[in-house]
Amino acid sequence: MTDSKKYGFTTTTLHSDRQKAIEHGSLHKPIHTSVTFGYNDARELATVFQGKQPGYRYGRQGNPTVAALEDKVNKMEDGFATICFATGMAAIGAIAQALLQKGDHVVSSAFLFGNTNSLWQTVGLQGVAVSMVDATDVKHVEAAITPATRIVFVETIANPRTQVADLARIGKLCAERGIVYIVDNTMTSPYLFQPKSVGASIVINALTKSIGGHGNALGGSLTDTGLYDWSRFPNIFDTYKRYPTVQWGIAQIRAKSLRDFGASLGPEAAHHLAVGSETMALRLDRECANALAVAQMLEADERVAAVYYPGLKSHPQHAISTELFRSYGSLFSFELKEGIDCFDYLNRLKLGISASNLGDTRTLVIPVAHTIFYEMGAERRASMGIAESLIRVSIGIEDTDDLVEDFRKALDAV
Ligand SMILES: *Cc1c(COP(=O)(O)O)cnc(C)c1O
Repeated sequence: MTDSKKYGFTTTTLHSDRQKAIEHGSLHKPIHTSVTFGYNDARELATVFQGKQPGYRYGRQGNPTVAALEDKVNKMEDGFATICFATGMAAIGAIAQALLQKGDHVVSSAFLFGNTNSLWQTVGLQGVAVSMVDATDVKHVEAAITPATRIVFVETIANPRTQVADLARIGKLCAERGIVYIVDNTMTSPYLFQPKSVGASIVINALTKSIGGHGNALGGSLTDTGLYDWSRFPNIFDTYKRYPTVQWGIAQIRAKSLRDFGASLGPEAAHHLAVGSETMALRLDRECANALAVAQMLEADERVAAVYYPGLKSHPQHAISTELFRSYGSLFSFELKEGIDCFDYLNRLKLGISASNLGDTRTLVIPVAHTIFYEMGAERRASMGIAESLIRVSIGIEDTDDLVEDFRKALDAV
């Protein structure tokens, strides 16, 4: 297989390892567990350390099995370069560690994965100001920008209330102002959406979710799309300016986050995630169809107060989602009518498992306010549109009729 022809998403993912003369003709990239890598010529070791020649030195900054996964994810995102991390949060944390300094300002969507919300609070205590805005309209982002704004951070579809950011217009705004535009693509995954198409500078994926897809390994990735001109970024250290400009960002992130903080992905996890990624498109086609069928059934039921899924015509960003995404994702959330206890409902599901992961092959359900969003308190939840009875559903690949029946029968039972 050569690079000369552009293949489809799954073909490219499946065959990406083989483009690099894989050891012994192995079909999977082998799991390299060695922590360090030896050289017959000590001078060669020195040139690798000095970045003058590619090569592995110590597992915290790079490993061949992890590098093969980085290459796969980079192809999925059509990126310039990708770094993998131990978790999705480590990839997001790397932004704070490597790119932000005291006195800087961040504009972030207010509709966020709970742990990212918590991270911005932490960063806020360390001398970086963070403005949380309604990113479904670019004008709120624009109003928050100051001369100190270094990055704008959004999720594609927000977890768990499914608000969709004004992705393309925010991209244009950031390009005009020379601001680094970071998009967390976890909820759409590179199969449903490539943030590079709306001008993202950096794309985050929690590999734990749809890319790995089986709930058996944690991982995260950060992709530099190559679109941002790093010569406009004031926080690049002189030592990384010895590379061509396009490499400044990724070189500094690899060193400052992976080397200094060490949340490196292990080779065994990288192998699990790489194998899982081979079937991502197949799984997501099924999951998106399942999510739409169950969401439509719930929306039509009078015992349900509200359903939030970008695939429903009633969703405020249905039109923009149709325009930007291949499909609407595997996650939706809903509220039951007053008087129906969300715990009673969840306990009556036979297939939906009460658990906190998402993007798994199995359908997972969770009462949001009482679990993942418990710590932030009722006031902040209300500002994010999180009702106390909100149930988040991550639909799996079960047979569609079985899932529709399961969610309907549980309503009959409460
Ligand atoms: C799960 C998730 C993360 C964090 O990923 P972990 O691997 O659990 O650390 C980040 N962003 C979004 C949108 C997520 O759903």
